[in-house]
Amino acid sequence: MVNANEPTHLSTDHLPLITKYVDDMSGGLRMVSIEIHDNPEVGYKEKHAHAVLTDYLQQKDGWRVERSAYGIETAFVAVYDGCRPGPVVSFNAEYDALPGIGHACGHNLIAISTLAGALATANLLKDEQLGGKVVLYGTPAEEGGGGKIKLLSAGAYRDHKVDISLISHPGITCDAALVRTAAYASLKVEYFGREAHAAARPWDGINALDALITAYNAISVLRQQTQPGDIIQGQITNGGLRPNIIHAYSSGRFVVRSTSQARLDALKKRVIACFEAGATATGAELKLTLGGSYADHMPNRALGRSYRHFFNRMGGSIVRGDVDIIEAATTASTDQGNISYAMPSLSPNFWIRSEDADGKQLGGPHTPDFAKASRTEEAHSLAMRVGKALAATAVDVLTRPELLKEAKDEFQKLKQDLQAALR
Ligand SMILES: [Zn+2]
Ligand SMILES: [Zn+2]
Repeated sequence: MVNANEPTHLSTDHLPLITKYVDDMSGGLRMVSIEIHDNPEVGYKEKHAHAVLTDYLQQKDGWRVERSAYGIETAFVAVYDGCRPGPVVSFNAEYDALPGIGHACGHNLIAISTLAGALATANLLKDEQLGGKVVLYGTPAEEGGGGKIKLLSAGAYRDHKVDISLISHPGITCDAALVRTAAYASLKVEYFGREAHAAARPWDGINALDALITAYNAISVLRQQTQPGDIIQGQITNGGLRPNIIHAYSSGRFVVRSTSQARLDALKKRVIACFEAGATATGAELKLTLGGSYADHMPNRALGRSYRHFFNRMGGSIVRGDVDIIEAATTASTDQGNISYAMPSLSPNFWIRSEDADGKQLGGPHTPDFAKASRTEEAHSLAMRVGKALAATAVDVLTRPELLKEAKDEFQKLKQDLQAALR
C-alpha cells in the first residue's frame, strides 16, 4: 500500500528491472546464506563467511574485490564502477554469529540482502549506462567488536568518497525504515584493596569486594533517577578468593546505554561517580578501563522515504515517516550507529517469522529460536525483498541528484544541531 501523502516525484522506475536481477540471483544467494548460517563464526573469526562472500563476488563481472581489507583479516571491500563518475553508494554486510547460539541475530540474512542490493545496483549501472559507483563493505564483528568503527577510522569510507550507507536487520517487530538504536558503552571496573585475616585482623584489610558492592548498590539507586531509554547493566566477574580473606581484588563489567551519544556521555559520568563512591567508601583503589562503544543510529529520513516507497510497492506496509521514527526506536545497539555519524545512513528492520506450528510467538534476536527463524525459505524471500528495496533506494540516489542533496543537507543539519546541543 502506497501512502497517499507520498511525494509523486519518486517515480524513477527501475524497480521491475531490479526485481528481475534479484529474483535471478536468489537461488545462489540462498546457498550463500545457508553456508554462512550453518558454519557460525564469532567476531573477527568469520574466515569461512569471508571466503564464501568474496568468492561469490569475485565471480561477478566488473567487481574488484579486496580481501582482508585494511589489515582486518575478515573484512573486505568490493567495488563496482559505473560508466562514468557519479555519486558513490555503499552497502555494509554483516556475517558474525553469537557464541554458543550460532546465527541467532540473523546476520546471514543481512549478508545476502546487502549482496542482493549491491549486485542489483551494479547490474543496473551497467545495463542503463549510468554514472556512479557501488562499494560493498564486508564488516566483521558487529556483536560488540565494532568492525565498522575500525573500517571508518582506517579511512575505508573516506578513501572511496562514499556518499551514503545502506544496511538492514531482521527482527520480530514490524517492518520499519527509520530504525533508531541506542548508544552503548562498556566499562571494565577493578578495585585493588589489601588482604587480611577476615576474622582475626579484618581492620588491617581494605575490602575490594565491598567497594564493588557499594558501587553496584549506588548504580541501583541511580537507576531510579534516570530518563526512559537510559539502561545500566552490570556483572561481577571477580568477587574475591575466600570468605575468610579480606578481598584484595574485585572486578566487574558494566554496560551503559542511552538514546543518543550526548545523553550516553552524561549518563556515563554519573555511573563513574558511583564507582568512585565505592573507592571512597572503602579506601580501595579504582581502575576503570573503557571497552567498546557504539553511537546511536540516526536514520536519514530522505533515504527512508525512498526505501519505504519501494518497499511498500512490493507489498510492504511501512508506516509514515513521522510515526515510523517513533515506533522503530530500539534499545539494542549497532556499529552502524557510528556510520550514521559519518554519512547519511539507513538500517531498515524487516520482520521474519519466529513462531511455533500453532502460530505462537517464539524468541527474537539473540535466542536459539531466532537462529532457526533466520534459516527458513520465507525469511530468505523477505530478505530478498529488502535487497530489492535497498537497491531501488541506491539507484534513486544515483539517478536523482536532488535526493542525494536532500539526504546530505539533512545529515549536515543534524550534525549542526548536535554540536549546538553540546555547546
Ligand atoms: Zn544483529
Ligand atoms: Zn545481535
